[in-house]
Amino acid sequence: MIRVAILGATGSIGRSTLRVIGRHPDRFRVVGLAAGRSVDDLAALVAEYTPDIAVLADADALVGRSDVPRAGWELGDDAVVALAEHPDVDVVVNAVVGAAGLASTIAALRSGKRLALANKESLVAGGPLVTAAADEGGGELIPIDSEHSAILQCLQGCDRGTVGRIVLTASGGPFRALSRDELATVTPAQALKHPTWEMGAKITIDSATLANKALEMIEAHFLYGLSYDRIDAVIHPQSIVHSFVEFVDGSVLAQMGFPTMELPILYALTYPERLADTELCTFDPVKASPLTFDEIDLARFRLFALGVEAGRAGGTMPAVYNAANETAVSFFLEGRIGFLEMGEVVETAMSRHSVSPIEQVADVMEADREARDMVREMTAAQHPGSAT
Ligand code: MG
Repeated sequence: MIRVAILGATGSIGRSTLRVIGRHPDRFRVVGLAAGRSVDDLAALVAEYTPDIAVLADADALVGRSDVPRAGWELGDDAVVALAEHPDVDVVVNAVVGAAGLASTIAALRSGKRLALANKESLVAGGPLVTAAADEGGGELIPIDSEHSAILQCLQGCDRGTVGRIVLTASGGPFRALSRDELATVTPAQALKHPTWEMGAKITIDSATLANKALEMIEAHFLYGLSYDRIDAVIHPQSIVHSFVEFVDGSVLAQMGFPTMELPILYALTYPERLADTELCTFDPVKASPLTFDEIDLARFRLFALGVEAGRAGGTMPAVYNAANETAVSFFLEGRIGFLEMGEVVETAMSRHSVSPIEQVADVMEADREARDMVREMTAAQHPGSAT
């Protein structure tokens, strides 16, 4: 029996994980569920799945909510970290949104657990700390991201020294055909309509700007130890090919399937084993046709180019890129800044930052805070009166 804790249980990945686990009750047991501030959703999941441990990170969300059945709930960010390193947990699914997931990522790896990571931002912002935590504690980092799961699957049974390069696929989001002028006026509602994947709000916006693909290049760099010269990305609107691995002899392997996060989740839970799951056996090459591929336009998708630059700069720069992007996305969703402005504020935040190495979590947090403050100040200066 694999004992699972899910951090970010009420979000899209958390719920998909619970669906997968629900189909295999003889293999998995839900030991812990943690949520940020979705009190009612957490209460409903606790009633349905009866985990031993339930955690709400933001205790303030309970203010005035005496109606919520919350007996035994642990409260606060520290309780989330405690769940990530709890001795009764075998696999931690980290599906927290944003850099807030870093402490739990490190705690799980340092305590020797398998970390099924959907929270790519923690790896982007604190990559060197995350890989060091895995080395120290013997923890195992398995990606839930579909592209990185595809690469892991393509690498099974291969000598890693024979990998030439990897190519991540990107759906291109809802705006891949729009001009720069058209992009300037798109609304949050338009950006939240993803053509092929159903996901949470933050990652859906990141898919529309292609920031998500840059975050994934940085993620791949840390997961697979490849230099940025050996990581490419290509637009693939159908989201059927989840990524390619090209070997040194020119042979290319790809992993395919109709888009569902349940497959990478199941694989991360059972890796390197494959568990039979008929619900996921839906592939039909005729329905998947045609498969097309296109270059990413760096001028229109500025956040993609900036993210790759941040990855190459290394040190604190990816943390700055990530935090500036997270803040810009939240301001875009609130209607405070436009779609293209997200790239502009991130670019300015990066240009004002001087890179330093990451040696401890405090270095990441400081770069993170600096970037968020910069984006907040820029937005307040450019849009006086927009502040909430
Ligand atoms: Mg992905």
